[in-house]
Amino acid sequence: MSPPERIRFLDAMRALLGASQVLDHAADLAPYATDWRGRYHGKPLAVALPADTAQVAEVVQLCATHGVPVVPQGGNTGLVGGATPDASGAQLLLSLKRLNRIRDLSAADGVLVAEAGCVLQNVQDAAQQAGLLFPLSLAAEGSATIGGVLSTNAGGTAVLRYGNARALCLGLEVVTPQGEVWNGLSALRKDNTGYDLRDLFIGAEGTLGIITAASLQLFTQPLAQRTALALVAHAQDAVDLLQQARAALGAGLTAFELMSTHSLQLVQRHFPRLRLPLELSTPWCVLLELSDSESETHAQARLEAVLGAALEQGRVADVAVAQSLAQAQGMWALREHIPLAQAQEGLNIKHDIAVPISRMAAFVESTAELVTQALPGARLVVFGHLGDGNLHYNVQAPIEGDAAVFLARHQETCNRIVHDAAAACGGSFSAEHGVGQLKTEELLRYKSPVVLSMMRAIKTALDPHGLMNPGKVIRP
Ligand SMILES: Cc1cc2nc3c(=O)[nH]c(=O)nc-3n(C[C@H](O)[C@H](O)[C@H](O)COP(=O)(O)OP(=O)(O)OC[C@H]3O[C@@H](n4cnc5c(N)ncnc54)[C@H](O)[C@@H]3O)c2cc1C
Repeated sequence: MSPPERIRFLDAMRALLGASQVLDHAADLAPYATDWRGRYHGKPLAVALPADTAQVAEVVQLCATHGVPVVPQGGNTGLVGGATPDASGAQLLLSLKRLNRIRDLSAADGVLVAEAGCVLQNVQDAAQQAGLLFPLSLAAEGSATIGGVLSTNAGGTAVLRYGNARALCLGLEVVTPQGEVWNGLSALRKDNTGYDLRDLFIGAEGTLGIITAASLQLFTQPLAQRTALALVAHAQDAVDLLQQARAALGAGLTAFELMSTHSLQLVQRHFPRLRLPLELSTPWCVLLELSDSESETHAQARLEAVLGAALEQGRVADVAVAQSLAQAQGMWALREHIPLAQAQEGLNIKHDIAVPISRMAAFVESTAELVTQALPGARLVVFGHLGDGNLHYNVQAPIEGDAAVFLARHQETCNRIVHDAAAACGGSFSAEHGVGQLKTEELLRYKSPVVLSMMRAIKTALDPHGLMNPGKVIRP
């Protein structure tokens, strides 16, 4: 875009949104130009802050007219660089954060309609104030937005019982790449009327259009919840404990998280105020949560019965059951601070793999051997949602030496070991974080030609000029 064209484009944008809602000074752009991990540094043409769906549509129309690519951004907490523009200075960053109204909440339908920029925690709070539950929960929930969690089809800690973001969404409102508005804000649980467009936009990471609002499913709140930590010696013991807990607790088992002792030691180092209720005497620790519809006493007795049996069988080495809400929150804080502790510890290679639960223990053990052989001194920080067959199989640079050099030299080798091992188990290189710009090569490597060609056909049909978040997910 030539300088005069750029001025005309920005003037037209200011006329649409008001001068204060179009940012183009370097200092104002900075917070939008780098991703949460600090890995990607872009240079947006400008940042546009529309206030409602109509303004989003007008911005997208203007971009279509001028051939300007659009990068949507919500809370900017994504972990694959999906919301960061490239360094060309040619892409408009479209922030959805002013679309932050909860439009409707119907207890009768069990549906809440939220705009894309609503922060996830605010949606959870609105549901709770109505005596209901919006179960999607992840450590970034204080900043992540509804548009972002749907666009990445986020998972989090309650997938085991309630499913991922896709499963919680009944309908969407979307601005298409042509700037038209599709109102698909359905409150229906059943609607088999042709291709499911909603499912196309969920997980599309902004490459097919802009989500401006969503109708979300609400659930009844459990009467009681109980949380526990259990120490296990082997990953297989954790998998066996999962089966045992499922058999005994059924749908009451709402979370089952695995954490390596090394992950928890990182948390202790960087967040010493978070107290560990157990001495870490085994390589693995499991966090379980039970939701119960009867009473606190009932919940306590059920969880203690399962864990007591596992202790007697020798499957579990030690157990701590939270006796209060504060203790339960303390256990969850340990789990949620692992990514933060990793960030404090320094550069690391993140993997977000899924494998069938039955093959998880074999995957964990054989991959650890391969990684430590290939990268001596590398530290494994393994944790995640074992109940969903999803682990963050992260590799921290050795304590000694330059972490940046380690990453530059070994990231590719490390990715190959971990992702090949997941693929060999019938798994995926991205369970819940998406593809963004970090994993576009992996998509080309691990998806079959037939899948890639269908994905490209969908992208071309909806976004023929390639203006929606170019360079993310699938390349032309
Ligand atoms: C500490 C931490 C813990 C996390 N834990 C989990 C976890 O347990 N499970 C999990 O699944 N994820 C987790 N994540 C990553 C998670 O994907 C994001 O936190 C969240 O889903 C993204 O929301 P956001 O609003 O920040 O989106 P952004 O980061 O702003 O955007 C993410 C992607 O969606 C696109 N996008 C954003 N808004 C829209 C929109 N309205 N329309 C179209 N496209 C849009 C962007 O272009 C980008 O491609 C974690 C992240 C952090 C930092």
